[in-house]
Amino acid sequence: MYDFKFRSVGGFQRNCTTEIIHVTKQKFIILKFADTYKSVQKAQRTSARSAIRHTALNNISRLFLKLNESRKLVETKRIQFLYIHHIFQDEEVPLQQLIEKLSKNHHFISYSDAVRKMEAGVIDKPYLCISSDDGFKNNLRAAEILRAYGISACFFICPAIIGEEDPDKISEFCRTRLNFPAVEFLNWVDVEQLQKLGHEIGGHTMNHVNIASTIPEHLPFEIGECYRQLQHHCGTSPHFAFPYGRFFHFNDIGKQEVFQAGFHTISSAERGCHISDSNQRINTRELMIRRDHIVLTWPWQHIEYFIAKNAKNASINSNYFPSYAGSDHNR
Ligand SMILES: [Zn+2]
Repeated sequence: MYDFKFRSVGGFQRNCTTEIIHVTKQKFIILKFADTYKSVQKAQRTSARSAIRHTALNNISRLFLKLNESRKLVETKRIQFLYIHHIFQDEEVPLQQLIEKLSKNHHFISYSDAVRKMEAGVIDKPYLCISSDDGFKNNLRAAEILRAYGISACFFICPAIIGEEDPDKISEFCRTRLNFPAVEFLNWVDVEQLQKLGHEIGGHTMNHVNIASTIPEHLPFEIGECYRQLQHHCGTSPHFAFPYGRFFHFNDIGKQEVFQAGFHTISSAERGCHISDSNQRINTRELMIRRDHIVLTWPWQHIEYFIAKNAKNASINSNYFPSYAGSDHNR
C-alpha cells in the first residue's frame, strides 16, 4: 500500500512533482496535483461547454479575420497585454509557438516598461506584455521559457497561499477561490527565482478576494498586507491586478486602498489594448490596464482574433477607469 518512507507523522513529504501526501495518525490524504491541462479540463468537466465555445469562436474568428486585414491591424502602434494562469506540461510547446508567432509583428516589453510608455504617452510600436495570475508552481516553467526568449513578464501572486503545503488548504483555495482543481503553488524561494530570471512580481490580494464584495474593513488586510508582504519578500512590487478582473469585481474604495497601500498601477482582466494620443501623458492614478486572458492550448486563430479585434477597437478611452471608480477624468 503506502511506502513508509513517507513517514513523518503530522507532516508532509513530497512524493513526486505532482503529488504530496499528508500523513496524520488517523488518515492518509493523497492529493494529486494536476500536471496537464487536459487533466484539469477533465476534472472541471467543462468539455461540453468548451466545445460549444470553441465552435462559436471558430465561426466568429473566421468571419472577423476574413473581413478584416488582421496583419495590418496587429501592426497598430499599441500595447497589448496578454495574461495566462498556468503552464502545464502540455502547454509548454504551445507557449513557445505562441511567442514565435507574436514575435513576428510585436516587440515584447516588461510590465514596468509598458507602464512607463503609457505614462509618457509614447506608444510608438506594436508592443506586447505578458503576465500571469495566481502563482501556481508551474509558473516557474513559464518564467524559464519566457526568459529563454528574452521576455520579462509580471507574475501576480496572493501572499497568503505562497508556500502553502497543507493539501486541504490548497484544495480549498483552488476550489473556492479559483474554481480549479488542486494545483501546487509557488513558495517564496520560487518567487525569488522568478525575479532572478528577470521577471516582476505583482499583488493579487492576500487571499484572491472579489474586492467589490469584500467589506471595506477587510481591504487594508487584503490589499495593504499584500503590498507589505511583497515589499518584504520581493523588495519592490508596484503593480496590482484585482482578482476575477471584470470591472464589476472592483470599486472606488478598492482603488483608493490600492494606491494608499503603495501600489503604482491597477490592472483588470477586461479585454482591450492601449494606445497613446499625440504624446499625451497618462496619469497612472487614472490608468486601468486592460489585459486579455488566453489559454495556451487555444487555437492561434482565436488568439489572433482577440488581439486583432482589440487593435481595431483601440481607443484612448480604454486607458482609463470606468466611471464607477470615481475618476474625475470624464472620458
Ligand atoms: Zn486570479
